[in-house]
Amino acid sequence: MRRQAVLEKAIVTRIIKTLKINPHVVVRKRHGTAMGMAGDPDLYGTINGRHFEIEVKRPNDSSSQLTELQTQRLMEWKAGGAITGVARSVGDALLILGLEKVSA
Ligand SMILES: [Mg+2]
Repeated sequence: MRRQAVLEKAIVTRIIKTLKINPHVVVRKRHGTAMGMAGDPDLYGTINGRHFEIEVKRPNDSSSQLTELQTQRLMEWKAGGAITGVARSVGDALLILGLEKVSA
């Protein structure tokens, strides 16, 4: 039986669910609309007053990569002082936000 690919949407939902438990974090999903800025990351919010921007990609899928525009947008946010990163799992998102130690 073929393994079902994990959809990016599922990862986004899991990340939001996990982060919402933390009272020091506010997280929002950015909905792509005509009035939005193309290429801006999937998730944004604040952790202890630091703004963050996280682009979510499918896990275990080498075809799921940042587009040039997404890379550019993340770099803009980083240059502006935001915490930025690419997450393919809840663990990735926690690491980006410094909420989980890397196990040795
Ligand atoms: Mg994405």
